[in-house]
Amino acid sequence: MNPIFAEAPTTIFETMSRLAGQHNAINLGQGFPDDPGPQDVREKAAEAVISGWNQYPPMMGLPELRQAVAAHYRRFHNLDLDPDTEVMITSGATEALAGALLALIEPGDEVVLFQPMYDAYLPLVRRAGGVPKFVTLRPPHWRIDEDALKAVFTDKTRAVIFNNPLNPTATVFPREDLELLGRYLEKFNAIAICDEVWEHVLFDGLQHQPLIGLPGLRERCVKIGSAGKIFSLTGWKVGFVCAAPQILKVLGKAHQYITFTTPPNLQAAVAYGLAKDDAYFLGMRRDLQAARDRFTVGLSSAGIAVLPSKATYFLNIDLAPIANDIDDAAFCLRMVEEAKVAAIPVSAFYAEDHVRSVVRFCFAKTTDKLDGAVERLAAFMKRG
Ligand code: PMP
Ligand code: GLN
Repeated sequence: MNPIFAEAPTTIFETMSRLAGQHNAINLGQGFPDDPGPQDVREKAAEAVISGWNQYPPMMGLPELRQAVAAHYRRFHNLDLDPDTEVMITSGATEALAGALLALIEPGDEVVLFQPMYDAYLPLVRRAGGVPKFVTLRPPHWRIDEDALKAVFTDKTRAVIFNNPLNPTATVFPREDLELLGRYLEKFNAIAICDEVWEHVLFDGLQHQPLIGLPGLRERCVKIGSAGKIFSLTGWKVGFVCAAPQILKVLGKAHQYITFTTPPNLQAAVAYGLAKDDAYFLGMRRDLQAARDRFTVGLSSAGIAVLPSKATYFLNIDLAPIANDIDDAAFCLRMVEEAKVAAIPVSAFYAEDHVRSVVRFCFAKTTDKLDGAVERLAAFMKRG
């Protein structure tokens, strides 16, 4: 069997969720919200199952959804996308990532990855025959620096996977970093696979800037989004891929042999949801920001060092002030067993040069859970 999968561990998300169940812990590990998602969007999906078309939808996605995606990105990000030639619907961002890698790289091509990286990237790159080249980002700023890019870009670089806002660090790259990356894409004739699933989950008034919207990068980017994060419906797995026509044509060929299509009722409901007024999107941010603030205040008053969270459902704590040689994975195991709170060790998102002092918590949870977790963690830290 292929060793990339045969020898792969179970994902850290499954592992920590299983441990949370075993120890009856509050699960702040795997990133999914307690919020059930907007009722009207869910009703649309239900209605579409009962009265809609339940046979194969068009391979590139329902026309109404492709139009809704283009209109949505025009409204929020000032992008000008042709729904017929530049937008495709996939079964989640994960399918979009897999398809993009299969379609864009040939065995031996180099792919630049920024660590910490979402867990699916590396096995998918390897299975597509890509050779990973890592750029290591470090707390507390997790910024890209030019020397690091200089060290990994070569004339074999074909693609970069660029996740912004970044899971697990909960940061948003400043425009300066996007421009720096853009210069390297141009210089080395490479393509960025932009994982922007967190594009709507930004706080403190920050606005998302898609890389594809920067001057000169329109033909160098594959932009990937996901309804899961926009509507707090992570199980829905409806992804959006936007790219210039000549790129999207090839991505469509990969998609037609992977899933071919995506459930039509969910597509119809997402098309409806993307057209919701600004108040919905702002309200979602406001509620999540309030949860972030509540959890941050709680942890800080328990003497725990919290790293700034500017986006995503996550915030990180820094264990470095507790001890120099701390190991985040061991810490998370003890925490789930003794404090009965599950989190994710950020070292799981590195392939080499691991940062081992940072632990990720999901705050998209009820206030009872957040307050309960703070109480348990405060007592746990006091015991030492
Ligand atoms: N990329 C990132 C950075 C994510 O955080 C996630 C899900 N949390 C995904 C991709 C997967 O998205 P989907 O569920 O739409 O496949
Ligand atoms: N993306 C989610 C997270 O970061 C988990 C997704 C999964 O379980 N594969 O927590």
